[in-house]
Amino acid sequence: MVLNDLQLEFRKSSFQVDTLLICTDIIRLYEVKNYEGVHTWADDKLLKSTGVYLENPWVQLQRTKVKLELLLQSLSCQMKVEAYVVYINPEFTLLEAKGDGNYLLPSQLPLHFRSLPMKETPSFEQRRLAERLLQLHNPDYPPHTKPVYCYEDLRKGIGCPACGTVAEAFHGHFIKCQTCGERMNVKKAIKKNIEDFRLLFPDEKVTTNRMLDWCGSGDKDRIYRILRESYQPKGNAHGRYYV
Ligand SMILES: [Zn+2]
Repeated sequence: MVLNDLQLEFRKSSFQVDTLLICTDIIRLYEVKNYEGVHTWADDKLLKSTGVYLENPWVQLQRTKVKLELLLQSLSCQMKVEAYVVYINPEFTLLEAKGDGNYLLPSQLPLHFRSLPMKETPSFEQRRLAERLLQLHNPDYPPHTKPVYCYEDLRKGIGCPACGTVAEAFHGHFIKCQTCGERMNVKKAIKKNIEDFRLLFPDEKVTTNRMLDWCGSGDKDRIYRILRESYQPKGNAHGRYYV
């Protein structure tokens, strides 16, 4: 059974698994690297031909392996874990490497995978373990963070629904996109723009003047009518905003 791209956690410490093979009596853990060029082994580091040192991926993989073993223990799984760093780029060369079997070079991959029992039907235990690990997988890691933006930095105008080009001015019912030639429905584009503003700035008030600025230069009455039509007015005449 093969599981790819797992994001797991043991005691609040999260770790990522590139590929996990659940075999009958052993679990194989693979860390996949696409390094290219000549690298020289230097214990816990790799030296690139450019003179730059990288952390030897094996160091990271050992930490992952320990966490995985502890997690498996907590699931009452006694299977042994074998870990490999897999260098997949055919143009990767590793000089002076220790032949300790903790890594697989591109030329070793075909034999390694041929030697695995491929036709085996997963046992009940293998399936159960796979299901348990998938349940523990957290797809939302790292937590999504919002990009930093501010109103002043954003380009004002209405966006073409076909290509995204921003038209900085609008007039009439339809305008033609300067980039792709799409006929844009101005009213729809303004409505979409107001919704974008509400999504981007949930704490800001939607006012007619603000929306006129946000949509580029155009007809203020037009914006006002759209706001009246689609939203509810709040506040008095001078501080009126829409929700
Ligand atoms: Zn366009």
